[in-house]
Amino acid sequence: MRPFVYERATSPSDAAHLAARGTNGDEHRAEYLAGGITLFDLMKLDVMRPELVIDINPIAGTTYGQIELSRQGLRLGALVRMAEAADHPEIKSQYPVIAQSLYLAASQQLRNMASLGGNVLQRTRCTYFRDVSYAACNKRDPGSGCAAMAGVNRTHTVLGTSDQCIATYPGDFAQALIALDASVEIAGPGGARTIPFATLHRKPGETPDKETNLRPDEMIVSFLIPAAPWTRRSLYLKVRDRQSYEFALASAAVALDQEDGAVRNARIALGGVATVPWRAVEAEALLRSKPINEQNAAAVADAAFAGAKGHGQNDFKIELGKRTLSRAPQQAAALEI
Ligand code: SF4
Repeated sequence: MRPFVYERATSPSDAAHLAARGTNGDEHRAEYLAGGITLFDLMKLDVMRPELVIDINPIAGTTYGQIELSRQGLRLGALVRMAEAADHPEIKSQYPVIAQSLYLAASQQLRNMASLGGNVLQRTRCTYFRDVSYAACNKRDPGSGCAAMAGVNRTHTVLGTSDQCIATYPGDFAQALIALDASVEIAGPGGARTIPFATLHRKPGETPDKETNLRPDEMIVSFLIPAAPWTRRSLYLKVRDRQSYEFALASAAVALDQEDGAVRNARIALGGVATVPWRAVEAEALLRSKPINEQNAAAVADAAFAGAKGHGQNDFKIELGKRTLSRAPQQAAALEI
């Protein structure tokens, strides 16, 4: 690990001030430290090389670290630990897809440490990105190429790719947020702003190194999930190589509002198969006003993966993703609420 300067932020404005000074316009020069799960992992691998690490844990006593439930919805502070939200009784009953996505994302030890803000910003598990002995990785070193295109790409993605990068977005919680129309509150030296969560992450396009629309000195404050008729009938289905402590090969976050056996509204997001948390808008539209049955669910899955493209070893993810997406709404429809 390379030497770095460590600072503790004493307030949200102190954190923003330190970041503005530390980054000086370069997003890689300073990093915020919350749980440190991704950050220290990648610093030890020499993938991330910040000169300044700003510890924001001292501000967890502010709104950054609080869970608030109201008639308007759910507000989750960015410094809330995954375990706290996953085990929260009202989140489990009113927003089960949120609790399940967090519970299935990591081991208990990791859930105890990892923050929600850090969770949505975790980096890809692409081996070529994480191992600096491979020279070709456009995400780590722009313009160097992509070793995964013709390399070992079984866990890589089939939706939202470009000819520069096919890395999979590795998270689970983000799929639940995007399915529930969440927004994200962001703070920076220029003040606060709120954007739809769906616009936080960027597809790789020509610049796979730019993963989000956060400015270099900005920080996530909280996630806002609006109350809606579909939040209670929601679930997260995750398919992986082993049943514990593993990233998704395919996953689906589904929320349904049903009336007399037909879907009034559906919210669907996919994980493990896309470069960003992926909202399946076409699939949602196809389900509207229809009953959930095997035939309709299969048609929805076909529509969601119509533009999917495999790269050899990961071709199986197209069929696996369809089957996962087909099963999730059927399970959600059968929930006894
Ligand atoms: Fe790098 Fe993306 Fe290619 Fe992986 S898939 S080697 S992260 S450019």
